[in-house]
Amino acid sequence: MPASLSARQIQVAGKAYVDLLSVGQRFGMQAYWLQGHKTFRLRSQWTTIDLGKQSRMLQINCLPIYLGFPTVESKGQLFIAQADYQHVLKPILTPQVFESRPDVRRIVIDAGHGGKDSGACNHAYGIMEKDLALDVARRLKNLLEGADFEVVMTRDSDVYIPLGQRPKVANRAKADLFVSLHFNAAASTAASGFESYALTPQFQASSKYRRPTGKDAIRYQGNEQDPWNALITYHLERALVQRLGGPDRGMKRARWAVLKSLRCPGVLTELGFMSHAATAKKLRLPAFRQTLAQALFEGIVAYRERLQRIQ
Ligand SMILES: [Zn+2]
Repeated sequence: MPASLSARQIQVAGKAYVDLLSVGQRFGMQAYWLQGHKTFRLRSQWTTIDLGKQSRMLQINCLPIYLGFPTVESKGQLFIAQADYQHVLKPILTPQVFESRPDVRRIVIDAGHGGKDSGACNHAYGIMEKDLALDVARRLKNLLEGADFEVVMTRDSDVYIPLGQRPKVANRAKADLFVSLHFNAAASTAASGFESYALTPQFQASSKYRRPTGKDAIRYQGNEQDPWNALITYHLERALVQRLGGPDRGMKRARWAVLKSLRCPGVLTELGFMSHAATAKKLRLPAFRQTLAQALFEGIVAYRERLQRIQ
């Protein structure tokens, strides 16, 4: 990186922020304020990134990505936390800068819940999360095996498996990727759409919390895979929304138990709200569950292709 392109840094409350104008230069992107000076845009031929002021979210080609820290405006310029530059922009835009690119051959599919743990239920429509997750997992397994991936399931029947066992299956199998499948439920029956989670990086708060606390200083085994966690999560969420149309609730961060101790990249995805009547109705249809599996398959293939383009 030529010195002239090194980003201008400022410190805000002891935290390093980098200037998005020079971040744009580094990525070879145009960088400018949109009219009205509320949104800052980075733009290249294929990619448009929009950032708001004091916002803990950005959008890459309209896909919402939750950041660790809000952006900061200073003297007419917009800054992003160095941590978010490192954990969001670099992995998605320039994954080649990271070392030890993972293979994508042996994939562990983790059907959420099982046995005595039904997960979410919608009694009116007669559906349980554990059944839906296993059904989509089996469909995804068939698609992956048909494309010469190797697949290991954390469960292939209606059995209870403690959360801590699930990443162990991946670690024992020396898996290249761990994909955990879940369905959402909310008190509000209006909530709908897809969201996908990557493990929260060290020192930052998960998406549902406002700011980091002491606990967030813990570094987990899974954080060794931070760049690849972000890349698979981005591609999986994107594929779901492209095939199924959203709503796109975005790429979020959480320290789910199944992600913390993984030795391979991992993602946990929520494939729709069972509490949403129209979604629940669709989830009863095998053809719709097949489309969900197809979208997941496409996301995994897109991730593999992105990695294969790295020399
Ligand atoms: Zn679940």
